[in-house]
Amino acid sequence: MARKMGPATILTQQEEDQIEEWIVKKAMLGFPLHPEDVKDSIQGLLTESPRENPFTNNRPGIKWFNLFLKRHPEIKKRNTEVIPKDRAEVTKENLEECFNELNNFLIEHDCVGIFEGSTRGRRVLNLDETGCLTCPKTGKVLGPKQLPDFYEVTTGSEKQSITVLCTYSADGSALPPMVVKMGKRYFCDYCQRSFVDDIESRKKHLFGVSHLRMKKEYYAMIRDLKTLVQEERSKELCRRFRNTGECSFGVLCNHTHYSPEELAHFEATVKLQEEERSKLPKIEEWIARKAELDKKIPVDAHVNRLTTLLDPSLPPSLRLPSWSDISSTSLLEWG
Ligand SMILES: [Zn+2]
Ligand SMILES: [Zn+2]
Repeated sequence: MARKMGPATILTQQEEDQIEEWIVKKAMLGFPLHPEDVKDSIQGLLTESPRENPFTNNRPGIKWFNLFLKRHPEIKKRNTEVIPKDRAEVTKENLEECFNELNNFLIEHDCVGIFEGSTRGRRVLNLDETGCLTCPKTGKVLGPKQLPDFYEVTTGSEKQSITVLCTYSADGSALPPMVVKMGKRYFCDYCQRSFVDDIESRKKHLFGVSHLRMKKEYYAMIRDLKTLVQEERSKELCRRFRNTGECSFGVLCNHTHYSPEELAHFEATVKLQEEERSKLPKIEEWIARKAELDKKIPVDAHVNRLTTLLDPSLPPSLRLPSWSDISSTSLLEWG
């Protein structure tokens, strides 16, 4: 036992080491933890596996945290450097740097195999969450004529929305979906506020004027250029906006804030985008080509980053982007 003198620690040596490893790895990945995150996690641990401790509500305080730092000199409290927006812009150098770091991380943790052999692509995952209603709106249903009313039995106990996390790999296979259990509060993404989740409050909120307005505004803001041109073309010019450069109705104005020249320019852009898109290979062609190329690659091919990330048989999203790909991308459109 390599313990020093003094009272026993509240967490076991193994637990402390795990926390240290977690802090170090997160920081290396560019997501440094805040002391409160660490305290959250320890509070969770002590609540799940209760033991005697001097903390209030199982949550360690600053005193414990400072002693923890003393026991783990590897970890230092540092101020994060907040990167101003103009400095955060993508350059060729910091992009390469990013890929180099990713590469070093993969090598260091012996993970380069995700790009290797016939399973490559299967272990590069993309995931996103989506909400579904457990009791969808009923529509017209069919039944015998003599029955005046009939009810539809649905699997959902009430109108609830559950969150499902879908995960797909770069080679197109899917992982089992993960389902997030319903919380007690409903958070409205449009309005950025939450309320107690029951049918009444939800109805009141979702049909409320302010919610409908926020929702409409949101969709008006994210519509693509093609929809924008279509919608704005059908409106008359907003005099208020033309004369003063301002209109309090914003994106919800019944009149358009775009000049005919601007709309013509957008339309030309849409046309160009569509032409570019039509030049891309079809997914079937790409899959066939990938299958051909995969046959030629020995399973234990030596992997190094450049040949790996430049391999033309990789799905486009896994390939190292060229500088011209980056410089021609409108970063504002990234999610
Ligand atoms: Zn809302
Ligand atoms: Zn207007």
